[in-house]
Amino acid sequence: MKHLPVLIIGAGPTGLTLACELARRNIQVRIIERSAEYPNGSRAKGLQPRSLEVMDDLGIADELLAAGSTDLIFRRYNGNTLLGDVKREVFQRTDTRYVQGVIIPQWKVEEVLRAKLQTLGIKVELGTELINFSQTDNQVSAVLKTTQGEETVQCAYMIGCDGGKSTVRKALGINFEGETHEDERAFVGDVQVDGLTPDAWHIWLHPEVGFGFALCPFKCTDSWQVQTIALPDADGKLAEPGLETFRRLFAERTGMEGVTLKNATWASLYRVNVRMADRYRSGMVFIAGDAAHAHSIAGGLGMNTGIQDAYNLGWKLAAVLTEQANESLLDTYEEERLPIAAWTLNISSERQKIMTDSLKTGDGGLHTIGTKDTTQLNLNYRYSSLSKQNNEQPDGLQAGDRAPDGQLPDGRRLFDLYRGTHFTILKFAPANVSIERLSERYGDQVKTFTLDNEAAASFGSLANVYVIRPDGYIGLIANGTDETAISTYLDKFMIRQEV
Ligand SMILES: Cc1cc2nc3c(=O)[nH]c(=O)nc-3n(C[C@H](O)[C@H](O)[C@H](O)COP(=O)(O)OP(=O)(O)OC[C@H]3O[C@@H](n4cnc5c(N)ncnc54)[C@H](O)[C@@H]3O)c2cc1C
Repeated sequence: MKHLPVLIIGAGPTGLTLACELARRNIQVRIIERSAEYPNGSRAKGLQPRSLEVMDDLGIADELLAAGSTDLIFRRYNGNTLLGDVKREVFQRTDTRYVQGVIIPQWKVEEVLRAKLQTLGIKVELGTELINFSQTDNQVSAVLKTTQGEETVQCAYMIGCDGGKSTVRKALGINFEGETHEDERAFVGDVQVDGLTPDAWHIWLHPEVGFGFALCPFKCTDSWQVQTIALPDADGKLAEPGLETFRRLFAERTGMEGVTLKNATWASLYRVNVRMADRYRSGMVFIAGDAAHAHSIAGGLGMNTGIQDAYNLGWKLAAVLTEQANESLLDTYEEERLPIAAWTLNISSERQKIMTDSLKTGDGGLHTIGTKDTTQLNLNYRYSSLSKQNNEQPDGLQAGDRAPDGQLPDGRRLFDLYRGTHFTILKFAPANVSIERLSERYGDQVKTFTLDNEAAASFGSLANVYVIRPDGYIGLIANGTDETAISTYLDKFMIRQEV
């Protein structure tokens, strides 16, 4: 019997991000994974700009960018006729370093996250499956099947990051409302390709099928991701996903000669599920990522939303486990993230329809999927009970908005000030709250910066002070002379230091 603060079930991108968030705050954590080996399938092909900002905070964005591509174009064909190239749309803005997402296979994202986690002293426990659990008011007892036999773990909190078929969600009796679109299926997989240059995402439109065939190359491997609509044959049966099926459909739907698909390392049948959990918490157990929401892959949001669930939950769990914050802080995880899941289900269904319709008219393709909103930079928690604003801010950012990045006159960027596990307070010349007093009171849990007034353009009023949460959202906008409001806000998340 062992006693542990946090047990994470599942080592996909959600579980790994959460483990990193906890480990870098010195919270002891175990992360278990049922599979005996790390997955090698490409699955999600990209990190959206907001997830890159999360990875920036973890110090691994540059490595991920180097392993992926941001400038891959779409090359469209109608059968074997080349229609031309289309660039991915870039939604220019100055408040982020990452205007474009990066195309990178999910296994690579997981590999980089695992390496980060290892530097923090935590290793994924492979071949270890949660098979049962029970809980009391203050602890969870989890039964694990390991390569050595059964083990019972006592932990304060357990987080189910165990994917769409989540054992944790089902055992908690949490509803997963929605629908499965049995008629929207696709074969997906990874193959090597001879006869095409890996400088573009090749997409074949097809007069009957619409989305005929797609082959997306990756920079960090010689494998390409296959996607092609799966339709039943005359007997109503679906083919088995695999190299033979990929080759047959490629020949039928593209008519292209001189291209060979070989060495399939992953093959799967994907069906669109549009569902979400009606609760994210039951007592001491939480769910996150695909365990909490499933939707179309159009818009590329699944992995990204899971990563951002974990980013929201991590700092809150750490604050409660170190007795800095009241337990009720954990309820704000569901309060903040469940509406984001609802939004994600809607936008990905909308993007799916737009893509399908545009493919039918023959002029569309995957380049129609991304929007300003699928960058996830515009998501906010304005509706959250943690978002407080006690001074007028008619223009500019509101409490709950994502804190912007931007260049500072001294060569630093705003994100350089936020990076880390602390709260950040930004003030401008007219604000007279005392940095020294706040530092004395809260030590290194809070970092305060006085900015050049020019930087105020990114925020709003010069007279206000902006308190930014560890996950980069503005928690409080307060009058710059109102030190009490700032302390009252911070006292919810940390204990004052003895002076
Ligand atoms: C073809 C395809 C394309 C996609 N494209 C995109 C895209 O472009 N962008 C995007 O954001 N998303 C995309 N997705 C979705 C993305 O893959 C998922 O949203 C993502 O994997 C969710 O991560 P997760 O960590 O929540 O769950 P998962 O990745 O499913 O990880 C859950 C882990 O938990 C483990 N597990 C399950 N039960 C147990 C148990 N009882 N005990 C221990 N371990 C357990 C599983 O083995 C698994 O490793 C795509 C998916 C597919 C299939």
